[in-house]
Amino acid sequence: MSIPFEAKAAAGLEHLGLKVAHQHLDQTAQQAAAGDWSYTHFLGYLLDGELEERRRRSIELSLQFARFPYQKRLEDFDYAAQPSIDRRLIDELATTRFCSEGRNVVLLGPPGVGKTHLAIALGACVCQLGQRAYFTTAIELARRLTKATREHRLHREMKNLVRPSVLIIDEVGYLSLDTTQASLLFQVIAERYEKQQAIILTSNKAFSEWAGVFAGDAVMASAALDRLLHRATVINIRGESYRLKARQRAGSERIELTPASDADGATQTQGQPKRSRSRAAAQAEQEEVNA
Ligand code: ADP
Ligand code: MG
Repeated sequence: MSIPFEAKAAAGLEHLGLKVAHQHLDQTAQQAAAGDWSYTHFLGYLLDGELEERRRRSIELSLQFARFPYQKRLEDFDYAAQPSIDRRLIDELATTRFCSEGRNVVLLGPPGVGKTHLAIALGACVCQLGQRAYFTTAIELARRLTKATREHRLHREMKNLVRPSVLIIDEVGYLSLDTTQASLLFQVIAERYEKQQAIILTSNKAFSEWAGVFAGDAVMASAALDRLLHRATVINIRGESYRLKARQRAGSERIELTPASDADGATQTQGQPKRSRSRAAAQAEQEEVNA
């Protein structure tokens, strides 16, 4: 006796790994009969549940893969507290077009002004599209690559770091790197630049101080900046730590961290893809100095 198609439908969905559609088949078939649905309406409805579940799962996996130290969302960013950040620019970055265009985002500024918050929140936007983001700090990255070099698997590790749609390198310049570590950080920046893969980078150091970031090697620093800034949006945040400001608002003692003249300044620079790299670097530097 041949198997009826009704039974084949369920078995087929299961066999094809369409778990959600399989689970909802009977109920959806009843709904379709009661609602007098067309055949294509029925099929579309059944597949929609499956696709939605796959999308949800893909976002969940992307968020796990990203290894964010904590979650931050753009919706929770208080633009009123940081009025000099151009919200439209952040909204544009949130479309994640910078990823597909291989553009970098560089967030500069003193501690507590929201650099990591914005970096994670933008990374999360990439994850929401089911694409891969990966979060690391500069020192973590350097240590990981030093270990990989020792274990003769630098090439593979480098490939892993180039693959995600966006690599977030947080806290560049917070902890000093030795020569080997600096050269490994440079290699990551150079590899991703060659493959036109986006980087979101945060730093508390002005570009003029980047020789110090690269173990005192001004040539390597300038080569890294050239690549980083060739296609980049630079957001230079000035001001006081958000937490300190919140504490001040709560009425506790005022602690001055930055000169008053700096408090409200911020610069956003949109790098031009066709501009020469060194000119882009020089202009971004100049704008930062002028800010
Ligand atoms: P940074 O990386 O610049 O040192 P963080 O992003 O770690 O600063 O910010 C410190 C804390 O203050 C975080 O909890 C962050 O969410 C919060 N924060 C900073 N700026 C803002 C802001 N404009 N709106 C909301 N929260 C902010
Ligand atoms: Mg930070």
